[in-house]
Amino acid sequence: MRRAYNSVLKLPQLSKCPQCDAPCVPHRVCPACGFYKGRQVITVTAGA
Ligand SMILES: [Zn+2]
Repeated sequence: MRRAYNSVLKLPQLSKCPQCDAPCVPHRVCPACGFYKGRQVITVTAGA
């Protein structure tokens, strides 16, 4: 039995977005506000 797969099942580490304080994946664009490295990378439609 391979036990190395157990590490894959772990949840990815979440960091806090400096812009909106939402939990987001580090080194990725924040899905909540679309900011990455201090600038807006994607446009997130607020509200609906
Ligand atoms: Zn954010």
